Amino acid sequence: MAEVIKDLELVSVTKRYGATVAVDAISHHFKPGSYTCLLGPSGCGKSSTLRMIAGHESVSEGAILLGARDIVDLPPAKRGTAMMFQNYALFPHLSVLDNVAFSLKMKGVEAKARRATAAEMLELVDLTQLSDRLPDQLSGGQQQRVALARALITRPQVLLLDEPLSALDPFLRIRMRAELRKLQQELGISFLHVTHGQDEALALADEIVVMNNAVIEQAGPARDVFNAPKTEFVARFMGGHNVIALPSGHFAIRADAVGLTTADAGKLEACITAVEYQGTHVSITARTVGDQDVTAVMADQIFFDHPKNPGDRVGLIWEQENLHKLTT
Ligand code: ADP
Repeated sequence: MAEVIKDLELVSVTKRYGATVAVDAISHHFKPGSYTCLLGPSGCGKSSTLRMIAGHESVSEGAILLGARDIVDLPPAKRGTAMMFQNYALFPHLSVLDNVAFSLKMKGVEAKARRATAAEMLELVDLTQLSDRLPDQLSGGQQQRVALARALITRPQVLLLDEPLSALDPFLRIRMRAELRKLQQELGISFLHVTHGQDEALALADEIVVMNNAVIEQAGPARDVFNAPKTEFVARFMGGHNVIALPSGHFAIRADAVGLTTADAGKLEACITAVEYQGTHVSITARTVGDQDVTAVMADQIFFDHPKNPGDRVGLIWEQENLHKLTT
């Protein structure tokens, strides 16, 4: 849809609200044409970052480059970005088609041309049949697709999505995230998606940017961020990891990379405190002699070949290469 997709880059971007520093001099280069998730807990500065890129919030310091151009002083409609809001913000009195065509109306595009373009966008999100409905005659998932079509009609280089799935029920959320991913691949433009859900980020993103306390903790391909967290915060936030203190420092290790052996044959001796059956897997938590809780997750078959119970003494084992040293 778009010509050559430009690079988006944040250069030491800061956002202050009075004395609060919501975003603290962050820099990041977003790969053009990729799906990036901005991930972190509530209040870490994700939405402020997104709103500054969209132009809905002023930048206190720093530059936002799209292509070679600093877009910080441009109005939202002139930036080459478009935002899809969490509550979709549809006009209740306008039909689906007119909601989608609205921004072209504002630009002075004549009725026939703007309706034709809106119809194309509705086809893209599979809503052609519902063009004449009003927003309150649509399901949540359908409203979301209208909001998507309405953002895409401006032909953005970068689509910005602020918690786009949070209003949907869990079943629909999983379906819509697959649709978002497919749409991004079809369009080939950059999607930048804010979420506090690590599952959502892992399912969607080429690249994950983890934020905490107004700064970027770690950024990289989704698999690298999950597999090799650099800080204790990232290891805990991504989930599925243990943080273990050893004489040579703190390390993260995936729970499914920890195995069990006899008490005297492991790297750490521990006593099982909990066994949880999770269907395909079993999760075993054990307390080490040094009072650290470590979780091992294994395929149900492996567990039931040598079942264990709370109170059993075991040895914890792992491959050295699966330990990832943490910086903090
Ligand atoms: P997130 O999207 O990660 O939840 P936000 O960017 O919304 O985080 O908020 C980051 C910080 O900035 C929080 O401490 C929040 O309370 C504060 N903040 C956000 N918006 C405003 C505002 N309009 N006025 C004052 N403080 C704000």
